[in-house]
Amino acid sequence: MINNSIWLKGVKTKANKKLSEDIDTDILIIGGGITGLSTAYFLMNKDREITLIDKGKIGYGATSYSTGKVTYLQDTLIKGNSEKEDLYLASQIDAVNMIKNIIIENNIKCNYESNSSYLYATNKKEIKNIKKIENILKRNNIEYKIKNSDLLYNSIYSIKVDNTATINPAKYLLGLKELLNNNIKIYENSIAEDIDYKDSKFVVKVNNNCIRCNVLVVATHYPFLVSLGLIPFKTHVEKSYLTAFNVEKNKKLNAIAQSGNNSIRYYSDDKDYMIYCSCSDKLGKNIDNAKKIGDLSWEVNSKYNTKMKYIWNNCDIMATDFIPLAGKIEKNLYIATGYSTWGITNGSLSAKVIADNILGITNKYTELFNPTRTSNIINLVVSNLSVGKTYILSKLIKNYSFYTNVSVYTKDGIRYGKYIDDKNVEHIVYNKCPHMKCNLIFNSVDKTWDCPCHSSRFDIDGNIVHGPSHYSIKVEKN
Ligand SMILES: Cc1cc2nc3c(=O)[nH]c(=O)nc-3n(C[C@H](O)[C@H](O)[C@H](O)COP(=O)(O)OP(=O)(O)OC[C@H]3O[C@@H](n4cnc5c(N)ncnc54)[C@H](O)[C@@H]3O)c2cc1C
Repeated sequence: MINNSIWLKGVKTKANKKLSEDIDTDILIIGGGITGLSTAYFLMNKDREITLIDKGKIGYGATSYSTGKVTYLQDTLIKGNSEKEDLYLASQIDAVNMIKNIIIENNIKCNYESNSSYLYATNKKEIKNIKKIENILKRNNIEYKIKNSDLLYNSIYSIKVDNTATINPAKYLLGLKELLNNNIKIYENSIAEDIDYKDSKFVVKVNNNCIRCNVLVVATHYPFLVSLGLIPFKTHVEKSYLTAFNVEKNKKLNAIAQSGNNSIRYYSDDKDYMIYCSCSDKLGKNIDNAKKIGDLSWEVNSKYNTKMKYIWNNCDIMATDFIPLAGKIEKNLYIATGYSTWGITNGSLSAKVIADNILGITNKYTELFNPTRTSNIINLVVSNLSVGKTYILSKLIKNYSFYTNVSVYTKDGIRYGKYIDDKNVEHIVYNKCPHMKCNLIFNSVDKTWDCPCHSSRFDIDGNIVHGPSHYSIKVEKN
């Protein structure tokens, strides 16, 4: 079994150079995922000087660990406010068409496959919610069919829409990077650590240098500074496990359970595959990753009578109202996050909103996505209670008795984590996330130290694998 995303199979790219001097630019975009690259795409050739940086190599963020569906039939369409529901649905249909056009116009080879999307129910409550979604579709004259969904395991009711698609998201990002490389400056392995504002310019500390810019776009999935839009207080993080395994035939469809807990799609490469996603949970809820993988393996075996070929996990930032937080937060500072597991469409669309705002073009989704909007107070409290609970739990969990080679201990008031590898070598790191000081939990599957509240991850030697933290947890050896 391969412990990595199927989209990264065989991906070999040459990294652009690392930033090694101070530079000035007009627009700086931090982050080379779908949001950052799409923002650069919409801004290029408009007589503006654009620079994009990524802390690692482009194509290794959350986008390349998704299921790669490009669809407007989403589990999160219900917003409890018909005006918002209609506008949000329109935005997603626009995004599906926008991505299709980008791929066709630029001939991006990313296994684009036009197919149908299903939304299915496995119990009565989910049927009730699907009926509400049917009303939203009807109200907006979107054709759908009620299906007898024998195609989907365990489903008792489902609806289907057409004109949706699936892509290989890593190939899409690398296609965009290739296109942009001729038009803008891109630096890789260049991590943004801090932002200052001096003499009417943003000054971003990157590696040991700085970039001065007039306009700053933070497209880092989770904003790396807490002060940027106070995102930790408006969102929570969800984590899911995904697997890919061989099937006899690509049935040319993608589907999601109305609960959001299960999702499937097909993919044809050297062989036909099904990508199956399960075990979605609030980050920190079930910290035993080995058990999750065991459960997933059992599901694949019992439902599809086969074995997992690839296994990986992904996290996404859930906004309390399931609408992206994307746009201007102050001066010429823009952020984009909170895609609530629909970031292929929402990342592209947030990029368009931000690019239009920068260029002074009216965009009808600016207000809907406004990152400074007031959140629904009840959802906000519930979301923060859950993150708070995880934070407190992370403080209480002191040792990991179920792993013999992992321990957490305190020395001179400092908390450390120790992992002993197969060759009996000790790897000691600080056991506190530099982002918001949460204690870290050991992930036995990926061999990483994970923040159970905000999704930062570090390898066994303390290097950052995933933000929002932009500092490592390395212990300097004397
Ligand atoms: C299980 C799962 C399945 C999903 N499937 C789908 C799907 O089928 N369809 C869909 O629409 N959405 C899906 N999503 C959601 C989607 O994957 C994400 O919302 C989206 O990819 C986020 O894009 P991004 O550009 O914000 O982040 P990323 O792709 O993570 O890009 C951010 C980039 O910023 C860089 N970065 C971070 N910090 C710094 C820093 N300090 N300095 C410099 N660079 C930095 C990172 O290296 C990274 O390359 C799924 C999510 C999950 C969890």
